[in-house]
Amino acid sequence: MVEHCDVVVVGGGLIGATLVHALHGAPLRTAWVERRPVAELPDDPRSTALAQVSARLLQDLGLWDAISDDACAIETVKVSQQGHFGSVTLSASDMGVPALGYVVPNRALASALAASVVARSDVLDLSPDALASLSEDDDGVLLTLESGRQIRASLVVAADGGQSRVRDCAGVALGREVAFDQHAVVAEITGAGWPPHVAWERFCPYGPLALLPLDRNRLSVVYTVPDAALERVVALDDAAFMQEVGERSGLTHHFVSVTPRQAFPLVAVSAESAWQGRIVLIGNAVRTLHPVAGQGFNLALRDCLTLAELLRELGPDADPAAPHVAAQYRRRRGADQRRTAFATEGLARLFRGESTVLGHLRGAGLLLTDRFAPARRTLARQFMGLGGRLPLVKSPD
Ligand SMILES: Cc1cc2nc3c(=O)[nH]c(=O)nc-3n(C[C@H](O)[C@H](O)[C@H](O)COP(=O)(O)OP(=O)(O)OC[C@H]3O[C@@H](n4cnc5c(N)ncnc54)[C@H](O)[C@@H]3O)c2cc1C
Repeated sequence: MVEHCDVVVVGGGLIGATLVHALHGAPLRTAWVERRPVAELPDDPRSTALAQVSARLLQDLGLWDAISDDACAIETVKVSQQGHFGSVTLSASDMGVPALGYVVPNRALASALAASVVARSDVLDLSPDALASLSEDDDGVLLTLESGRQIRASLVVAADGGQSRVRDCAGVALGREVAFDQHAVVAEITGAGWPPHVAWERFCPYGPLALLPLDRNRLSVVYTVPDAALERVVALDDAAFMQEVGERSGLTHHFVSVTPRQAFPLVAVSAESAWQGRIVLIGNAVRTLHPVAGQGFNLALRDCLTLAELLRELGPDADPAAPHVAAQYRRRRGADQRRTAFATEGLARLFRGESTVLGHLRGAGLLLTDRFAPARRTLARQFMGLGGRLPLVKSPD
């Protein structure tokens, strides 16, 4: 038997689950399918630096109360480079706000989303199951799941991550693929003695090193290393790893313990088209960014909530994949997507070169930015996620 619905969301990671949550109240029969049992939290050691705007959007979605106990405010961002002069300090007080953003463990985000979307009576939950194949015709898309279950939908949202099965089955080509030949090694360090609510972005010869505050005594570390050095870094024991991070960051404070390290390969990929026929791609399925600027989730959140906004605006019998909906989505999201991807890639490249001359030039740039308040504020606004039209969010009652 084939089941019918208006929209199927494939993938229930942070972005797919947020979309399901945000579609509450849309005049649509919605189904979603996630490979994992949805109540089972993913084993993700990462934390996300949420832009101030993203925190506000999560608040409007009614999710912040479930997240705020685990969120650590970022009041100051310090950007510097190892071995060269020059640094920039961005501060919340400079911007007249209490925080430039927040650091939230991914498990806390996933847990808040799971609590909201599990057992929702208005959504057909097909999890745990996975998309096996799909075929599209003029009126809809037929999806076949690995269990053999079939479902027909007017619109399929691909939120199934960087290796998107939807993207492959629909034949959406990858427009751009930049291999950085780097991995991000992620861990949490516990210790004491550093100032609270400060996030450090340190550009090192290896690649960027981010230290994000989780609370008074814990930092989330994202240490970017070239592929050639990965084996060595992963093999370091706890003391040697903490010493290396301490030396590279310039933080001479006391690191006491560190969690096991996990490595994530870094590649910037973007699909040739975000909306093709009856398929729309969001999150990592449409684009992955270098984590240097902490923009991947923040940008995808604005995409996903704009999509939810457009779908909620539809009349009861409207086609959610109608060309005017796709055109409106592109119009509302195109500029922000291009700007954020360009800035992130530029940053990742700018700090890669190791020559002394380049190091001095970058140092001069950092120094000038730090001295020149409008430049500093422009950078802070980018970090806060400001600058474009924000989606209208409706909190599920
Ligand atoms: C080291 C690192 C640090 C980062 N830090 C930040 C940061 O500070 N700030 C920020 O904004 N961004 C950050 N990002 C980016 C951010 O993590 C991603 O943008 C975000 O995780 C994307 O989520 P997603 O839901 O699109 O994809 P995923 O998390 O990959 O979720 C995809 C989901 O789809 C499911 N799935 C896969 N295939 C199928 C199938 N066939 N059928 C059904 N389900 C399927 C999977 O089980 C999974 O749950 C970072 C990224 C990295 C690598």
